[in-house]
Amino acid sequence: MAFNDKTKRVFIKHKICRFCADSSLKIDYKDSKNLAAFTTERGKIIPRRISGNCAKHQRMLAVAIKRARNIGLLPFTTAKIKTKEYREA
Ligand SMILES: [Zn+2]
Repeated sequence: MAFNDKTKRVFIKHKICRFCADSSLKIDYKDSKNLAAFTTERGKIIPRRISGNCAKHQRMLAVAIKRARNIGLLPFTTAKIKTKEYREA
């Protein structure tokens, strides 16, 4: 088969949940700096399969991010990137 020509190497990097590994890390909705690390530039929450968080902590994180959004600490989305793209195009 055609796709077998390429050496297919799938690296499954074992990800460890940051919050499980370090119990001193806490998920706080007021801590927007740390929460922002788990969002994309556009403000989307990074999925568990990429961030490597466990289900429990991903849930807590999602709630915290949503709370932070609601009180204006984190953006729901960013319009800046969009307008820039449109201007350049
Ligand atoms: Zn965890």
